[in-house]
Amino acid sequence: MRLSFLRRGRAPPSPPLPSLKAPEANDCAILLVDSVYLAGTYHITPYGSPQPSPTVEEHQINYDSCDYSNSPGSRKSWKRECHGAAEFIQQLLDSYKQVTAVTSGNAAMSYLHDLPYSQYGCVILLIDLDHHTSNSLYEDIHSPIYNKSTVDSEKDINILYGIELLKVVLKEIDLGIISNVIPIVISRNDSPQLMSTCLDLGAADYLIKPVSTQIIKTLWLNSTKHKRPMYSPDSCDETLDNVSRLSIRAGDLRDIEERLNTAFSRDEWLEEMIIHHYAPPFHHINITKFPRLDTISSQERMSYLRQQYSDWDFCPYDYSEDDLLRCILVAFEDSLAVKGLKSISVSNDMLHRFILAVRAAYCNPNPYHNFYHAVDVLQATYFTLKSTGLIGNSDGSSSYFDQKRANVMKRRIQEFLSPNDVFALMVSSLAHDLGHPGVNNSYMINAQTPLALLYNDQAVLENYHTTSLFLLMKRHEFNFFGDQSTPEFKEFRQLVVNSILATDMSAHFDYIRAFTEQNGRLESTSSLDPDQEKIYFCSAILKCSDISNAARSFHVASRWTECLMSELRDQASLEKKMGYPINMNPEQTDTARAQGQIDFIGKLALPLFQIVGDMIPEMSYCVDKIRDNIGTWEHIRDHGSSIDSHMNHGNTIVSGDATDSTTSTADAIYETLIPMMTETF
Ligand SMILES: [Zn+2]
Repeated sequence: MRLSFLRRGRAPPSPPLPSLKAPEANDCAILLVDSVYLAGTYHITPYGSPQPSPTVEEHQINYDSCDYSNSPGSRKSWKRECHGAAEFIQQLLDSYKQVTAVTSGNAAMSYLHDLPYSQYGCVILLIDLDHHTSNSLYEDIHSPIYNKSTVDSEKDINILYGIELLKVVLKEIDLGIISNVIPIVISRNDSPQLMSTCLDLGAADYLIKPVSTQIIKTLWLNSTKHKRPMYSPDSCDETLDNVSRLSIRAGDLRDIEERLNTAFSRDEWLEEMIIHHYAPPFHHINITKFPRLDTISSQERMSYLRQQYSDWDFCPYDYSEDDLLRCILVAFEDSLAVKGLKSISVSNDMLHRFILAVRAAYCNPNPYHNFYHAVDVLQATYFTLKSTGLIGNSDGSSSYFDQKRANVMKRRIQEFLSPNDVFALMVSSLAHDLGHPGVNNSYMINAQTPLALLYNDQAVLENYHTTSLFLLMKRHEFNFFGDQSTPEFKEFRQLVVNSILATDMSAHFDYIRAFTEQNGRLESTSSLDPDQEKIYFCSAILKCSDISNAARSFHVASRWTECLMSELRDQASLEKKMGYPINMNPEQTDTARAQGQIDFIGKLALPLFQIVGDMIPEMSYCVDKIRDNIGTWEHIRDHGSSIDSHMNHGNTIVSGDATDSTTSTADAIYETLIPMMTETF
């Protein structure tokens, strides 16, 4: 389907286009796709000089000498097919100046992508449905456009044969990736149903074999039915020049519209490729997979989970996946129950489908960046928003701070964040690592992945997660705002994009600096830009939620540490194998791991939570937890006690000053360790 990005409104009347020359038989090249052909380009008299390579005779000799033991059918019938194919090529050459034969669908696509179209009026693509051998499958897998990483299922391997090939060709024509291609199906099968299926899909014609000379002679006529008239090559430059000058004179937008629509359609194809390549496939969302909510026991479970999900010590690994889906539902129901929501319409059905789609798009084999992490980050955001009174009734934890100041700041955040912003922040939290591949930005850049190229090595994964979210919303029609042109959708998008991009840890200290400046503005009487302050508030909350493991009780925090170390170990092994620089070597001993945690928590998490705790006093609770955890890690490091013993007993040892023990090595850490750590999340 073509997108019409610029088709709102009516373009001004256009001047008539110059008369155009229709293609003729000699302007058409033939591309045959069938395993019985000897691959190559056959010419009779290409541009005046005969260069048969190979000749039809060679084709025949080659097949006479072939071993047909693996061929379908008997040797005799296969040989007959090959002779028939050679004859067919000869017949085609009687009417067309060039015939190219390929034995696989992917070879055909490579040919169409590389073809210098200026040499031909069009390409008549003949897709033979009859012979698909293991040989042609083998060639497809090893073809340049089908590398191993993209061949991951039988379905993928078969995708470019017969009718599947026809579909791919038609889709690429539709998206403007290839042009001037006339797909025609040929087969011995005379089933009317098959014929009408092919024509319904968009094939220009269906030919029953053997194809007569008369039909071959008229094949080129399909080009006049199925393509726009082409400019004559002789007058091409002059014609385009005329069109261009006419456009400028008359203000004709038709040409630019056409070009932009083609370009944007290609972007859409690119989007689809990205999401298919990196994210797990979006399963057909079966709404019946959502846990039941209509029984008394399920309602009791929901109220139990609402309580659990509101507890700072919540750990997703203690619950079933069904319970986690219910927890997400609880959080979203609460955020959608806030009074004052504008233009948001989310039915129960849409919400359930959205949650299922998000779960499907997280790569659960990842030890850390998986669906559990998403549920955990959402929980931290939900907890914060509840604490600040932005969701439900706040029981608050502001007793940790000066009550009067806390109330002032609470009013501040309530003043800046609308109920719509709260919803945007919840969506951002749940989707902030969507489609995470299990390796970090550093790996993506070193491996020169297409995503790193696409995003110019800048916040590669964070950009990708954001894109994935909006693609997912588009694909599954999660139109929370009805129309995407509304101001509410634009605000939602702006907040989501900025919040997720803020989780790029390479900009961590820039954000801490920005939050410090914001704090200064909020304390003073200087005039504020509400839109900008809102973005900082949301970025601050999501950044804290993303690394909230560090601020959980030790028995929960250390569990997450294990998951993260496991993912980092996998990446380090991969980096070693690929010869890339090793980004971070996970510490093997408890002592080394403890020091790593002290460095990470003390130098990255603590400064963030301290400044955000000043802006949002309810979060100062986390500062105390972080200090407790640093004390416990120090105890493990200094006394050689095992992490397990602290995990099992939930011991915490409070340290007077969390950063004291690392002061002597602080400079070294800033110079070496922290740049590596900031790439990790
Ligand atoms: Zn994350």
